[in-house]
Amino acid sequence: MNYDQIFSSALSDIKEEGRYRVFMDIERKKGEFPKATWHTENGEKEIVVWCSNDYLGMGQHPDVIKAMKDAIDKVGTGSGGTRNISGTHHYHVMLEEELADLHNKEAGLLFTSGYISNETSISTIAKLLPGCIIYSDELNHASMISGVLNGKCQKRIFKHNSVEHLEDLIKADDPTLPKIILFESVYSMDGDFAPIEEFCDLADKYNAMTYMDEVHAVGMYGPRGGGVAEQRGLMDRVDIIEGTLGKAFGLMGGYIAASKNIVDCVRSFASGFIFTTSLPPALTAGALASVRHLKKSNVERKIHQERAARLKEKLREANLPVMPSDSHIVPVLVGNPVICKKASDILLDEFGIYVQPINFPTVPRGTERLRFAPNPLHDDDMIDHLVKSLREVWQRLDIDKYSKAA
Ligand SMILES: *Cc1c(COP(=O)(O)O)cnc(C)c1O
Repeated sequence: MNYDQIFSSALSDIKEEGRYRVFMDIERKKGEFPKATWHTENGEKEIVVWCSNDYLGMGQHPDVIKAMKDAIDKVGTGSGGTRNISGTHHYHVMLEEELADLHNKEAGLLFTSGYISNETSISTIAKLLPGCIIYSDELNHASMISGVLNGKCQKRIFKHNSVEHLEDLIKADDPTLPKIILFESVYSMDGDFAPIEEFCDLADKYNAMTYMDEVHAVGMYGPRGGGVAEQRGLMDRVDIIEGTLGKAFGLMGGYIAASKNIVDCVRSFASGFIFTTSLPPALTAGALASVRHLKKSNVERKIHQERAARLKEKLREANLPVMPSDSHIVPVLVGNPVICKKASDILLDEFGIYVQPINFPTVPRGTERLRFAPNPLHDDDMIDHLVKSLREVWQRLDIDKYSKAA
C-alpha cells in the first residue's frame, strides 16, 4: 500500500478540476481596509479586498479595537478553560445577554465558531427529540448538514426556498413525530432570502420547530442588526436563531439565541460546546462592543446597502452577468471552474483586485462564480476600477461563452 500515492492522486484530481484551493497570504491595513498587502513570492503588492466577510469593516472599528486592548490589559489573553472549568468570564456572560436581547430571546449561548454552533446545536436538539425528522433546505451550509448527519435522525431535503415542496414532505410524515425546519435567512452564494414567514406558518400548521441560520444577516439587517427576522418582525416566530461574530461583527465565534430551556439543553448536552476551551475574553469583549455599536448605529448598514446596489447597477450597465440577488451579496456568473480561477488570478496579478473564485462543492458545478462583497469602505473609484477590470478580463477570456451556456 503506497499511502503517499493515494494522497497525491487525490490532490491531482482536484487540481485538474480547477478546484484546488490556494490561500492568499494577505495583511489587512487597519484604517485603510479594504486595502491590504499581498505577500507573494516576488515581494509585496498592494491590493483591494473584494471578498471579505467583514461586511461592515467592524474588524477595524476603534470601539472594538479599544475594547479588545482594554480586556487584554485587564484579564490577559486566553480564557484558561472550558466554560465549565474556569472558562466562563464575565465578558461571556454579558455577551450572551446582549445576543439574547438582540434577537429578543430568553437566552443566548456562545460557541467558538458559527460552524460549531450549527453543528453541535442541531445534532444535540435532534437527539433530544425522539423520532425527530429534520427538513433541511438543499442549499444549507456545510455546518448545518454536518449537524443533521450527527443528529442521526431522519432527514428530508426540500428544494431551495420551496414552501410547496416543504409542505408536501411534512404532510407525508407521521403528524405525531417531532419536526425541525432548518434554513438560512440569507443564502450567501446566491444572495437570496428565505420565505421566513411562510416557513413559520408551516411550522405552526404541522407543529414543527424552526431553526434559522442568520449568519449573513446579523449586524446588517433590521433596525438593531438583529437580522432579516428582525427586519420582517418575525423574531418571535423562529424558535432558534443562529449567528456568527465572524462576519459583520468583525471578530470570531458563533452563537444561538432561543428559549431558556432550549439554550439550557444545548449548554448541558452539546459536546461541541462543553469539551472545548471557551473564546478568549478579549475576543468576547470586542464582540460585545461590536454588537452594542451596531445595535445603535444604522450608518454602516445604510451605506453598505447603497454600495451593494451601486456595484450591481454598474456591473449591469457593463453587461456583466450579475446573478439576481436582493441582498448585499453580488455574485457574477462565470460557469466554468478553470476559467473562474483564471479570471480571479488575472484580476489579482494585473489589477490588484482580490476576489476568490467560488467553485464546487461550495456551489453546484457549472455555476462557478466570482462573488463580490462590497462594504461601506469601497468608494466609487474602487467600484469603477473593478467594473472596468472585469470587463477587460471578460473579453480576454471570452467568459460570455461559458456564462451564457450555464
Ligand atoms: C460562515 C457560515 C457559517 C459558519 O460561521 P463561522 O463563524 O465562520 O464558523 C455558518 N453558516 C453559514 C451560512 C455561513 O456562511
